[in-house]
Order: sequence, then structure tokens, then C-alpha cells
Amino acid sequence: MTRRLQADASGIAEAAAILLAGGLVAFPTETVYGLGALATDSAAIARVFAAKGRPAHNPLILHVANKALAARFARFDARAERLAAAFWPGPLTLVLPLIRDAGIAPAATAGLDTVAVRVPRHPTALRLLEAVDGPVAAPSANRSGQVSPTTAAHVLADLDGLIDLVLDAGSVEVGIESTVLDLGRPDTGRILRPGGLTRDAIEAVIGRLDVSSGASSEPLRSPGLLARHYAPKTPLRLDAVSVAKDEALLAFGPQPLEGAGWMLNLSPKGDLAEAAHNLYAMLRALDTEGARRIAVMKLPEGGLGEALADRLKRAATA
Ligand code: AMP
Ligand code: MG
Repeated sequence: MTRRLQADASGIAEAAAILLAGGLVAFPTETVYGLGALATDSAAIARVFAAKGRPAHNPLILHVANKALAARFARFDARAERLAAAFWPGPLTLVLPLIRDAGIAPAATAGLDTVAVRVPRHPTALRLLEAVDGPVAAPSANRSGQVSPTTAAHVLADLDGLIDLVLDAGSVEVGIESTVLDLGRPDTGRILRPGGLTRDAIEAVIGRLDVSSGASSEPLRSPGLLARHYAPKTPLRLDAVSVAKDEALLAFGPQPLEGAGWMLNLSPKGDLAEAAHNLYAMLRALDTEGARRIAVMKLPEGGLGEALADRLKRAATA
């Protein structure tokens, strides 16, 4: 049995003690719930991979309370300094050169010479990380490949019995994962995974980013990016312009398609932030309806639309 505690002062103190003793604690961040383990503890990190069923080649994001803690194990160049100053705490993960002798468990970075790090802005996450006073690896608290959790109930649906504790602070704000930006070499600046911070916001601080060429000459920079991910069990059909009675509709905007057997609207007012907040909970809900398929209406492209399109594409991949 996994314990569930309110994210108040005593819950957070208990969670910190469990983490420091090598246990696994799921906790809310502003993006999704993370599955935390002390990043300097190889045995704890091994348990994270086991609980999630996550392939060993998929490195974890390390979460810290502030930039100074991050600078103990990650090398910041001028761009990284500017981005951290502008967007931390917040939904931006930086992939930076790893400082080798800093004590990070090799499995946490999948043996790479880079490390992914961020400072989350959820108050519970910040207080927990302050209490731990060290790096906490925290991938999304779901079984690998499944839909990410935005509530404590989602976490328990996937991981009950496999982890020690979940801290419950209700539903999270952003609803999709952080943007992962590769600054691992001086000449790169590339989004590996679009997410809760938009490309425009990043470019406003450090200028134009590289656009991935798709060329395969270069070794895979983000080994964990799977074509199929974030996926419900019911098949998805994207960019629907009509819908059948045995389908569930994931709608967007003030004019949802008519005729679906079930329908949820990501944002009746057509707001992408609201859609991101609702995406995973609505996919989970529609997944239990017994529909033949989930039809998804087309979403606008700019801003958070990039991350939403990425998640829906992976969710729809067979
Ligand atoms: P998750 O924690 O499940 O939200 O996923 C973390 C994402 O960050 C995955 O897509 C990883 O491949 C990516 N990532 C973590 N560390 C690195 C790294 N050192 N280099 C490239 N990508 C990374
Ligand atoms: Mg994940």
C-alpha cells in the first residue's frame, strides 16, 4: 500500500524524511506529478526505473530548490544563466554538461555526460526540495508510456503499492510536462521536448533556437523520447472534422463537433493553457468510457499548441 498524505507541513516533512532514507515519493509539480527519489542514491534511482517500468536508457530530470544547488552538478554557460534567471522556478528543463564528480547516480542520467535539471514552481515541490536540500530525480509518476498524472488519484491508479508515499495537493496548474531544452554543447540550443514554456518565451531571452533537422547522422540527444507515449488504451484519431456515435470526442473551442457518444471539451473558450491543464485528466476519463476510439479536434498551432500537438501525436501513435 502506498500512503497518501496532504501536502501540509507535516506531510512535506514526512516526505522529505522518506526521500532522504532512499524511499520513493510522488509529489505535485506545476507541470505533472513527479515520482521523486534522491538523485545521489543509486538504489533509490533503480527503484524509480523499476516502479515506472522505464527503459534504462531514458534519463531522469533532476529537480532542485534553486539554481545554486543545480550549479553543484551542472555546468551553466551564459545562456543557461539567463534562462534560469528568467524562468526558474518554472516549467523549463535545461540539459547541461554534467559535473562528473558531483555524486549524481550514473543511472539517473542514463550514463550520459549531460544532465537535465529544473526548479519547479509548485509551492509543495519547492518546500519539499528545500527540506531535502539536494537533487531529487522526478520523472512523471506514471507507468512508462502511459498518460501522465495531474492528480494524486492518477498517481495511485498507476503506482499504488510500488511507491512509499504520494503527497496530495489536488490538481496541478500547467498539466503537461516541462519544455526540455538542450544546451549540452556550446553550439546547440534545441528543444528536445516542447512543453509548458513556449519556444517564443525562450527565444525572447536567448535568440533563435535550432530547428531539429531530423537528420539521423547525429547520435540521439534525447534517448527517452519515444514515438508512442502519453497514450491511453483507447486508440486516438487526430484532427477530426466529424465524429461517430461509438467514438468519444475530445473537443476544443466553442463549437464542438456533434454526434459523439461521449464528449469532453478541453477548453470551451478556446484557451490553450486551459486545454493543457485538462488534457491528461480528460484522456484518462474518456479512456474508461468504452468508446471504440477517441476523436480529437484540431487545436491551434502557436504557443502551447506546439506541446499539445506533440503529446497528442505520441498518444495517437500505435
Ligand atoms: P520525464 O521525466 O518522464 O518527463 O522525461 C524526461 C525527459 O527528459 C525525457 O524525454 C528524457 O529523454 C529527457 N532527458 C533527461 N535527461 C536528458 C539528457 N541528459 N539529455 C537529453 N535528454 C534528457
Ligand atoms: Mg513521463
